[in-house]
Amino acid sequence: YEKSGYREYDGIYDSLFPWNPLPRHTDFTTYCLFQQQSWKNVALVDSLTGGKLTYGELKTRVLSVSSGLAERGVKKGDVVMICMPNSIHWPLLFFGTLRLGAILTTCNPQATVNEISRQAKDSGAAYLITDPELWDKLKPLNLPLVLNDIDGLGVRKPFGGSVPLARLSELLEADPARSPRVKIQESDIAILLYSSGTTGPSKGVMLTHLNCVAAINHGSPIAAAAIPVVGVIVPLFHVMGLMAVCSSALRNGYQLVIFPKFELELMLSTIQRFRISHIGLVPPILVLLKKSPLVEKYDLSSLQYIGYGAAPAGDVTGLSKRLKNVVLRQGFGMTETGGSAINVARPEDLDFANKYNSCGHLICYTQAKVVDVLTGKPLPPNQEGELWLRGLNVMAGYWNNEKATAETIDKDGWLHTGDLAKIDENGFVYIVDRLKELIKYKGFQVAPSELERVLLYHPEIMDTAVIPYPDEEAGEIPVAFVVKRSGSNLTEADVIKFVADQVSSYKKVRKVVFISSIPKLESGKLLRRDLKKLLTSSSSSK
Ligand code: AMP
Repeated sequence: YEKSGYREYDGIYDSLFPWNPLPRHTDFTTYCLFQQQSWKNVALVDSLTGGKLTYGELKTRVLSVSSGLAERGVKKGDVVMICMPNSIHWPLLFFGTLRLGAILTTCNPQATVNEISRQAKDSGAAYLITDPELWDKLKPLNLPLVLNDIDGLGVRKPFGGSVPLARLSELLEADPARSPRVKIQESDIAILLYSSGTTGPSKGVMLTHLNCVAAINHGSPIAAAAIPVVGVIVPLFHVMGLMAVCSSALRNGYQLVIFPKFELELMLSTIQRFRISHIGLVPPILVLLKKSPLVEKYDLSSLQYIGYGAAPAGDVTGLSKRLKNVVLRQGFGMTETGGSAINVARPEDLDFANKYNSCGHLICYTQAKVVDVLTGKPLPPNQEGELWLRGLNVMAGYWNNEKATAETIDKDGWLHTGDLAKIDENGFVYIVDRLKELIKYKGFQVAPSELERVLLYHPEIMDTAVIPYPDEEAGEIPVAFVVKRSGSNLTEADVIKFVADQVSSYKKVRKVVFISSIPKLESGKLLRRDLKKLLTSSSSSK
């Protein structure tokens, strides 16, 4: 099994990725920005206005932001919540916060105020960074405000709210030379990203500075002739956007074109306008690229490389026929692994990986086991079981939640991914199915338990279970099985509306099946797999 990295004596797979020396004892800001020598090159471009910042400006501004935040009392260990769409100021605020040893927690600006409040409370957030446009919604959080008041061209945006703790425009006037030199240990927490993991509601994933460094230090084996121009379209609040795309591209001195939101035609015209060469996408966007006639309208000849992941991808051969000169490279990752943990190691392996829908090899510093789902015993190559991962990229645990941590990372340091996978005799990993509850709608996490809790508040719903249902456009949609109170006239539309009124739009239940009882074990555990089978058999018998 040499070529698979499999060790027969203990059932562990070692990484086959080319080894990249791992810098130790450095904080993530220093690692990403201050160890590379690009100063004059463009670092960040605003996709709408074309406004730009060079690496020199980025680095100086990060120092000013940290200096200004420190003057206003932000200090090591404080949790700072950032809730704003992608912008060229996002990385300034991110690295400026981390440089102080403060912890950044990110949230989806589309989330409802209740969802965001829950996260603010759980994380113990002491400050909020947001845009003027979101202030009305976020006012109830009642947190000292750092206002991102500058638009893509560097012009100040008006703000009608009460006096913030700081505006970005003021922070940038702070003396960069006075940015404090805080002692940051590699084991200190850098970011707190929220994920529901294998079960239950969203939890704070603690990623240390070392986790972050390890997660992006596996290097990109795909060489480019010129400095890559990277499209950052996946949200920066998610691990893929923040770590796998943005931080790793900055570390490599690339040029980043930051999109505030996804819209197909805007993406295509922006690729043409800025000659974008590299882009990270989620599978639903690949589907659009494969099918939409708009693709023919634009000159995409600059595009060399699409990295994709975050959710199961179907067959990409149709897309590679359409975008002939573009390399497609899948990765597998989790919030809990700080970004992609599995990636294709060698360019010559890409065709094979795409043809057989493999997400590649374990990145360096990572080990895996594929274990029998019932016995937990390790399995040899080509057998399907639960994927367990161990490595320096694996999170320190869930924030203030020892129980969930212990359920996810065992005493030997193995992260139980909740994904069903196999590894072949050449070390290629294939994600076969998901054992855990999680639903991925267009790459966004939807936690079934959260929707079930909402549904159970309905006076006419006696019991419920939510599971994923395959959908070509979104990847998966949440389907609710509902047991009605006897005599109730509840309709599918009523249930859909009831949930939609209370959760972010991407979490909406999109299909309802009424059922007489929910299959459960005696312990009360829902038998989600039985429900999945029920759905597949009812749709195939139609
Ligand atoms: P998140 O923490 O939001 O990144 O979600 C992680 C989960 O997304 C994984 O545990 C998988 O279930 C799923 N996922 C990520 N990448 C892939 C992939 N390439 N193929 C299939 N599922 C994936």
